[in-house]
Amino acid sequence: MKKKLVYRFGEGRAEGSAKMKDVLGGKGANLAEMVRIGLPVPPGFTIATAACVYYMRRRRMPPGLKSMVAKGMAFIEGIMGRRFGDPENPLLVSVRSGARASMPGMMDTVLNLGLNDKTVTGLARVTGNRWFALDAYRRFIQLFGDVVLKIPKEEFERRMSAVGDEAELERVIGAFKELVRERTGAEFPVEPERQLWLAIEAVFNSWNNPRAQEYRRLYGIPDSWGTAVNVQAMVFGNLGNDSATGVVFTRDPATGEKKLYGEYLTNAQGEDIVAGIRTPEPIAKLPEEHPRVYRHLVRFLSRLERHYQDMMDVEWTAEKGRLWILQCRSGKRSPLAMVKIAHDMARERLISRQEAVARVEPELVGSLLHKQIAPGAVYEVAATGIAASPGAAMGEVVLDARRAVELAGAGRKVILVRHQTSADDVAGMAKAEGILTAIGGTTSHAAVVARGMGKPAVVGCGALQIDYERQRIKVGRQEIAAGAIVTIDGTTGNVIVGEVPLEEPRLAGEFNTLLGWADRFRRLRVRANADTPKDAQKAREFGAEGIGLCRTEHMFFAPDRVGVMQEMILAPDEAGRKRALDKLLPMQQEDFVQIFRVMDGLPVTIRTLDPPLHEFLPREESRIVELAERLGITVARVKERLQELEEDNPMLGFRGCRLGIVYPEITAMQARAIFSAACVAKKEGIKVLPEVMIPLVSDLAEFVRQRQLVDGVASEVFAEQRVRVGYLVGTMIEVPRAALLADEIARVADFFSYGTNDLTQLTFAFSRDDYGKFFGEYQRLGVMKENPFDTLDTKGVGTLVRMGVQLGRKVNPKLKIGICGEHGGDPATIEFCESVGLDYVSCSPFRIPIARLVAAQAKLGVKGARGRSV
Ligand code: PEP
Ligand code: MG
Repeated sequence: MKKKLVYRFGEGRAEGSAKMKDVLGGKGANLAEMVRIGLPVPPGFTIATAACVYYMRRRRMPPGLKSMVAKGMAFIEGIMGRRFGDPENPLLVSVRSGARASMPGMMDTVLNLGLNDKTVTGLARVTGNRWFALDAYRRFIQLFGDVVLKIPKEEFERRMSAVGDEAELERVIGAFKELVRERTGAEFPVEPERQLWLAIEAVFNSWNNPRAQEYRRLYGIPDSWGTAVNVQAMVFGNLGNDSATGVVFTRDPATGEKKLYGEYLTNAQGEDIVAGIRTPEPIAKLPEEHPRVYRHLVRFLSRLERHYQDMMDVEWTAEKGRLWILQCRSGKRSPLAMVKIAHDMARERLISRQEAVARVEPELVGSLLHKQIAPGAVYEVAATGIAASPGAAMGEVVLDARRAVELAGAGRKVILVRHQTSADDVAGMAKAEGILTAIGGTTSHAAVVARGMGKPAVVGCGALQIDYERQRIKVGRQEIAAGAIVTIDGTTGNVIVGEVPLEEPRLAGEFNTLLGWADRFRRLRVRANADTPKDAQKAREFGAEGIGLCRTEHMFFAPDRVGVMQEMILAPDEAGRKRALDKLLPMQQEDFVQIFRVMDGLPVTIRTLDPPLHEFLPREESRIVELAERLGITVARVKERLQELEEDNPMLGFRGCRLGIVYPEITAMQARAIFSAACVAKKEGIKVLPEVMIPLVSDLAEFVRQRQLVDGVASEVFAEQRVRVGYLVGTMIEVPRAALLADEIARVADFFSYGTNDLTQLTFAFSRDDYGKFFGEYQRLGVMKENPFDTLDTKGVGTLVRMGVQLGRKVNPKLKIGICGEHGGDPATIEFCESVGLDYVSCSPFRIPIARLVAAQAKLGVKGARGRSV
């Protein structure tokens, strides 16, 4: 038996289903599913993706496909009561691409297929509308000529004169056929059967057109998938004023609000909406203009939402008052809408709370924290378009996508400004801060793609004129050149010439509710890296469950403290150092008291001094002179000390616990500040949980020495203060040797915290400060794809992490383990941390919501949240 390559659907029967996306592509699978649930779908069949894969490999059609397609056509003919190629009552079909992942507009489609000089007459007779039939023929030659015969669109457009009456239409048809003859040296193919096979082949080939390849590269879609082909009976929205066609979302894809959203055109074909030729009507007008169609549509849309349990994007056509559903897919939506819809659907009990949490894509949530125009900012609105994708963006005006890619690559911020966008602009859109177009509505290419990318967009800005030749634009009354700065507000549709202050938005209430649900599903705790009381406050607001890393040196960089720090570093002996440290003690202690107050009841991990000391000293001559004067020592002495501290490899040098071991008085001062602050706070009734963390440990002896010192100071302080505070002493694991010897260290450490910034640096031997010099080239050459400083290298560095966890817990089952490198806020890394059983991740306050969400998703087994937006 030959492999089944054709799946039919129509009149309540379908051989495929929504589960068969791999075989039928997204569109084909959904067409079959809609038929199954009783929606009115024009009958048709889907040619499986395997046929395209076969064709791509062998450049010929798979055996048996011919007869399967013939049976498919007979099936459609049977239902429609028309025959393909019949001059009396002809069946017309559409031939559309449809891959497993949605690739909107990237591949080809042919409509009205089956028309020729004879069938057009039959069509005119059965529809009683000769103008319509001729127009369909004209459209067919044009589209077939472009898609199949590869004659540039513009050549047709050039020969397209005004078509007021049928005679003029006939003249245009004649001119189009003439064009085909000139360009291909042959007559336009009149045989419907031949038209069909040429169109199927063209759709297969369109899988490999450059823009489809670019799109796949951008969204990580494998080249090997191939596209399915859907052949379906044509229905017509342009058969008079009782016909219409439209696109509708079951909820607002920009805000998520539960109301129909979309537009339609009376007496038009679907392509007219996409092309933006006429300005469509908002869906809100449909009940007035086509009440019966509207009633049916509402019923079908609600059935679709309930069935798919998702917000759907639906194409429909009404032919002489009869409604047909032509396509449905999960609707692309803005991050704001993604959150609101997931939340609302769980509230409506359409989906579970777990499912709602799983549906929020962490990468896109990031853009919820994106900028908005600062409230109170004063600015003049130059023009207003349609608010298509929320958020505000600012950048240089760039008029073509390639230039946008170029400039963004050079680190410039750009706003891509186009008359309208097409598939060719996608790469530029991906690099731009925001998108602004002159025409197109809420379902235009620019709007849909920008929302999917989470980028601010204003579309259909009528007061925008673009002069590509002169590289200038006019926005309202203001004319500016490319390169000038504009600000767009995708939430309001406003366009402003010049800069406007932007600010981070507050999280929507729904998002907080969702995060609350996520908190119940996750096992991993989420802490913040916070160095100051202010950061700690922010961390708590975002839901941090403790501080995982307080870098104490950041307190010393403050202008009023760095001088004392310099005094300590330049002191000739221990006594001098102690004098300076005594001045630092109360400052540091006060910071800790404030942090403990903010973090009442939550653990606070405080790390002892880590960076090389020279980082605190000036380099410029004038500053050196100033410093010498302030400390009452000679410039020569300062320079001498600077020279002593200079290192060839400071990152491998005198830093981390090495400082506290060589100068124990530093650790002692810090321990005293921590424990004294803890006692003060405790006396205020605050629950304090200090965790002292020793950095850059590579050997057990280092940790033991520092721990003894810290424990000793703790006992002293508790005796003096007559209170005891429970505390932990642990170490960072950021040197590979510490991970290898984790079992030795875990015997005496209360916790481990992976410092994956240093651990990555030291495992790869990539300098954290300098790797940028070659890493861009590494990525360009494909030597490495991911930046290991952004996403944890689970293969190499991850092996050390896993090993450290296993060795450490073997000897100390109570060992608390976390991560505090920058990776702690990266979704893929958080998934890894869940899988190796860490207790917590710690990241910057702004990433905490994402971390809470991903931690829940990782526990729920939502794999690879990344890339799901496709
Ligand atoms: C680390 O190395 O991962 C770390 C958190 O410490 P720092 O970045 O301060 O070196
Ligand atoms: Mg470090």
